[in-house]
Amino acid sequence: MGLVSLESMCRKAYENGYAVGQFNINNLEWTKSILSVAQELNSPVILGVSEGAAKYMAGYGVVTDMVKAMVKSLNITVPVALHLDHGTYEGAYKAIEAGFSSIMFDGSHYPIKENVAKTKELVETCKRLGLSLEAEVGAIGGEEDGVIGMGELADPNQCKMIADLGVTILAAGIGNIHGKYPANWKGLNFDVLQAIHAKTNGVPLVLHGGTGIPDDMVKKAISMGVSKINVNTELQLVFADATRKYIEAGKDLDGKGFDPRKLLAPGVEAMKVAVREKMALFGSVNKA
Ligand SMILES: [Zn+2]
Repeated sequence: MGLVSLESMCRKAYENGYAVGQFNINNLEWTKSILSVAQELNSPVILGVSEGAAKYMAGYGVVTDMVKAMVKSLNITVPVALHLDHGTYEGAYKAIEAGFSSIMFDGSHYPIKENVAKTKELVETCKRLGLSLEAEVGAIGGEEDGVIGMGELADPNQCKMIADLGVTILAAGIGNIHGKYPANWKGLNFDVLQAIHAKTNGVPLVLHGGTGIPDDMVKKAISMGVSKINVNTELQLVFADATRKYIEAGKDLDGKGFDPRKLLAPGVEAMKVAVREKMALFGSVNKA
């Protein structure tokens, strides 16, 4: 199966009360682990790629070619979307040109009028090409911009303005944060989530910052219209932890333990465990 958009994937999730995980990729190991687990659990999956990660992997074209080739060679038959994460206006067009199947345009830092204008244009472009578009209202807090802040809350009326443009899915701040959550975090704001859901006419919602939100809050958010949950930091943490343990135990100095295929193996296995847990929590297992 080729790459698919989020259109039917997230609509199905929305209507059946589960969420599809977006797992951000950084390299071959990330991509292979996530795709393998999705196939093993018969779950749809979204591979998220930030502009920084695309640059790291030597460009959007390399990412598209790698993902498409891997889907084919690993015989992946579950639906796979390749999604630009927090794209700029320029980045969105580059990813579209390279063959991504889904785009997030993050215009949340623009004044709402400009966010509306740019999102509207990209909705039309994506619709014409059969791609899905995720838009964002009200910046999501966290360390993305180098500043760690409390989660922000989106204005439900602004959410309506963007949702009415025909976006596939909508990301809106409800107190969620990118990266690790601070000890004094107040939790998700379900009143704001409910107000946004009520105003946005059945547009599935996206929960960013899925690392460290308590399971019961994740489940409640899904029951209130969240159909896509982004996981990025968690895989980085478990990969780093498993790799550190391998090196601290001196295993890289034992025989051919320095071979990257051995050195990276514990991290890969740890990522697979994390992806399995998330897919089970989100309810996407056997929903391919
Ligand atoms: Zn995000």
